[in-house]
Amino acid sequence: MITPNPKFILSLSELKRHPGEKIDVDLLFPLNERIGIDIIGCEIGSEFSILGRVEAVSTGALLTVEIEADATGECVRCLDPIRLEIFTTVQELFHFEPPADLEEDDDLPLLVSDDQIDILAPIVDAICLDLPLAPHCSESCLGLCPECGERLTDGAHTHEAIDPRWSALGNLLDFRKKE
Ligand SMILES: [Zn+2]
Ligand SMILES: [Zn+2]
Repeated sequence: MITPNPKFILSLSELKRHPGEKIDVDLLFPLNERIGIDIIGCEIGSEFSILGRVEAVSTGALLTVEIEADATGECVRCLDPIRLEIFTTVQELFHFEPPADLEEDDDLPLLVSDDQIDILAPIVDAICLDLPLAPHCSESCLGLCPECGERLTDGAHTHEAIDPRWSALGNLLDFRKKE
């Protein structure tokens, strides 16, 4: 459930309900709530731009906007911080009246209410769909060495192979410690 955020509520009082009438949407503000998925997202305080229009159509108000934002997160392979620019388009119809032909398991349609539309939910959906589920700092990122945890690079990263006899001794010492 998304908490309503006044920054994402657009007033349509200027929009005449004749098909073809439109109003411009040009918003730029720092986010006051995080939008994203666990591993990557647009953080509080980052600039968020919404640019486009709302157009009256026969059944409602059609929102078409482009979103520009910065997402930050961590590379899933090496855990380095990463930054990603998000460009995504949102197009959604907000109905003036709930459609009469709504089937029982249809999603509830977006509605114009009190001459306002709340564009947060479709924007959150679009951004979350746009974000990579497994972000990485570069295609060639090799991640971390499973043995020492250091970042692997193209250069050689090797460990002296432990002599099996020493490793047996190591096990014995571990065993002793537990006693
Ligand atoms: Zn990485
Ligand atoms: Zn290593």
